Amino acid sequence: MQVVKPGKILINNEWCESQSGKRFDVINPATELKLTDVAEGDAADIARAVKAARQAFESGPWKTMSARERGRILNRVALLLDKHKEEIAELETLNNGKPIHETRNADLPLSIETFEYYGGLADKIHGDTIPVNGNFFNYTLREPAGVVGQIIPWNFPLLMAAWKLGPALATGCTVVLKPAEQTPLTALRLGEILLEAGLPAGVVNIVPGFGPTAGAALVTHPEVDKIAFTGSTEVGKTVMQLASSHLKRVSLELGGKAPNIVFADSDIDAAVNGAMRGIFFNQGEVCCAGSRLFLEERIHDEFLSKLKTRVEKMVVGNPLDPQTQMGAQVSEEQFRKILGYVEKGKKEGAKVVTGGSPAQATGYFVKPTILEGVNNEMTVAREEIFGPVVCAIPFKNHDHLVHQANDTVYGLSAGIWTRDIGKAHRLAKEIKAGTIWVNCYNCFDAASPFGGFKQSGFGRELGKYALELYTQVKSVWVSLD
Ligand code: ADP
Repeated sequence: MQVVKPGKILINNEWCESQSGKRFDVINPATELKLTDVAEGDAADIARAVKAARQAFESGPWKTMSARERGRILNRVALLLDKHKEEIAELETLNNGKPIHETRNADLPLSIETFEYYGGLADKIHGDTIPVNGNFFNYTLREPAGVVGQIIPWNFPLLMAAWKLGPALATGCTVVLKPAEQTPLTALRLGEILLEAGLPAGVVNIVPGFGPTAGAALVTHPEVDKIAFTGSTEVGKTVMQLASSHLKRVSLELGGKAPNIVFADSDIDAAVNGAMRGIFFNQGEVCCAGSRLFLEERIHDEFLSKLKTRVEKMVVGNPLDPQTQMGAQVSEEQFRKILGYVEKGKKEGAKVVTGGSPAQATGYFVKPTILEGVNNEMTVAREEIFGPVVCAIPFKNHDHLVHQANDTVYGLSAGIWTRDIGKAHRLAKEIKAGTIWVNCYNCFDAASPFGGFKQSGFGRELGKYALELYTQVKSVWVSLD
């Protein structure tokens, strides 16, 4: 296993300590032991980082570099990530607790393809010519948004950095990135790769630190033009309020409480697989997790019995073991929060079909959990648990289902399992969510947009849609007289 080195702050392509000299511990959630420590950035470090990003945006090689050359740098980042993917997958697993099988097969390949995708897109970003009235030539320019503050969560630490940096760099923005305090390590490793790939000084600055100090300082800094945030809906609301002080542009990717809907006419075995993938992938620490499992009444019992059999065979434990299917929750706080929700569910009348308790004496492992007898009004069906707990909710018919599926403050994603293609497409229109998976779940591609309806946020990441977040349009009028 690799030696995990202490982390620093990246400003202007130099690794430095925080001005306060403070550091914070990074824990391995599978062992509860300290992995390393990292420099703790706060407002003073954010100010230095923003200054570097502003300078890099206004002058120097980044501003004058061709879009194609920016694309080449992004492609080099992809190649370097690929070269070091084993080491980085292990680092992610050590820090986050997720199974190595997932970091190898999801986090790393998806991060690599995100840099490849935006490497390819960089020189294809352009405005339009517009046939206006009168004797004028009118055209639009798509210019970078400027200095961007990016705040990311701990559930997919490298991948969220890739989703944020890829489009921001393709469009010519400069960035101050704040990783989550629980999981700063792969973002810092990515910083080393950005330097190796030849990114000019100040273009990406990485400041590890805590939300209310480093995060809030980034959101309120007057020289930051745009904030891109992924995290909880609660903190998203704070971020939006703070950003209003300078009317910064904001995009938010927040929580979810996705309906995963199984009809009696579906391929039941495939749907059982989909229900598992929907909730147990990444220990359920996924904003689009299929946490409300809607089952058509007449298959409810059969489905739950099949699901229970499968769930009880899941391999939970050492995240570094390639056979492991579910690892540790990211922190003690999350571990306790999840178990607290199970207790609350029981008090409100839900029954534990399986799981509902810690899986090991040491480490923040929670058994994969199924709750039945849940109705859509219970706390466990309304609030985001962000853990491996699925709530089974029976439904009678189409109208009953659509009402319940949409009866949530969230709207990030939904799953639909049926062999009736017409029904699937009708429902895909009726469900208020940013992503609909039909006979599949948790599918991602750098080319396909992702983002929320309602309190799951606004703005779309990935694909060409993300360019909207990081560019602004200028209309130029030229008199032809
Ligand atoms: P979770 O509740 O899932 O831990 P959070 O929404 O708290 O997720 O955290 C997501 C990111 O937001 C992290 O990088 C965290 O440090 C940051 N953050 C937390 N509070 C604030 C805040 N007040 N201002 C800016 N960023 C914050």
